[in-house]
Amino acid sequence: MRWTFAFAATLAALFAASSLQTPAHSEAPGEVNIYSYRQPYLIEPLLKEFSEETGIETNVIFASKGLIERIRAEGRNSPADVLLTSDIGSLSQAVASGIAQSVNSNVIDASIPASYRGNNDEWIGLTGRARVVYASKDRVEQDNITYEELADPKWRGKLCIRSGQHPYNVALVASMLAHLGPEETETWLRGVKANLARKPAGNDRLQVKGVYAGECDLAIGNTYYMGKMLTDEKHPEQKEWAESVKILFPNTDDRGTHMNVSGAVLAKNAPNKENGLKLIEFLVSDEGQNMYAEVNHEYPTKDGVARSELVESWGTFKVDSISLNEIAALRKAASEMIDKVGFNDGPSS
Ligand code: FE
Repeated sequence: MRWTFAFAATLAALFAASSLQTPAHSEAPGEVNIYSYRQPYLIEPLLKEFSEETGIETNVIFASKGLIERIRAEGRNSPADVLLTSDIGSLSQAVASGIAQSVNSNVIDASIPASYRGNNDEWIGLTGRARVVYASKDRVEQDNITYEELADPKWRGKLCIRSGQHPYNVALVASMLAHLGPEETETWLRGVKANLARKPAGNDRLQVKGVYAGECDLAIGNTYYMGKMLTDEKHPEQKEWAESVKILFPNTDDRGTHMNVSGAVLAKNAPNKENGLKLIEFLVSDEGQNMYAEVNHEYPTKDGVARSELVESWGTFKVDSISLNEIAALRKAASEMIDKVGFNDGPSS
């Protein structure tokens, strides 16, 4: 079942009213209410499978913005059980806004490494996405690179990237802060800015298009977009963009490539807490992890779950093992630094 956003407020009110009248005890499997920043094509197959296995009905609100604020505003009456988000920024924002509760589950602890969980399990990383370099097959000979090298003057005018303030880039800069410290990171960031081919704009795929079109030689993007571009039947032109580039996994010879996560939060006032927990446990099961891997070309966060064939074809690499909690703690400083250097003004100012 899926709610349209327009009905959501009414439903929230109904939930609030009915939870006061429903007897506390019930034998039926019941339901679980999900607020999702992640898109329907990805989440719906997972929920369908979950419902078939457990009998638990799922109700979902999809939105690209404002769900955390909304849960917060709904307060104790919030119908939300589980929030699904797509990067460490929104996961840590959920915790900071006080809408998360610690998840207490041996299944989850045994499945997901601690570096992909909140300090007190207030968020759980469900899938990994490496932030990589898409390099022109025609114009870039080298087969390896480091993030540090993106500031090398040899790439002057050759780099395409989306807004510095996009959460994916804020997390990447935060990881540089964690590894290099503030001074070196600022020098690096100024060097990267100087190498930009154009003002940062558009999404990750449009940076790859920039390489295809000859505007730049290197683009920064998340790995799963390679899968999306290759398989997007509605936009067949993207296949050509994808085929013009090769993926370089940065720093694979030293600390490893920066990996962000999508994840889940169990809402603090979850009215169906047990079912919410069951849902998160399903999402970290081999089956749930396999579905994410296949449908969205992401890296399973659970050890031992196979990558999809397509994802595997991009090559194996070393993952930066730094805890995402450390990165979350440096996001604010990263965002301020991105502004300070005027990153989004582009190369010439
Ligand atoms: Fe994305």
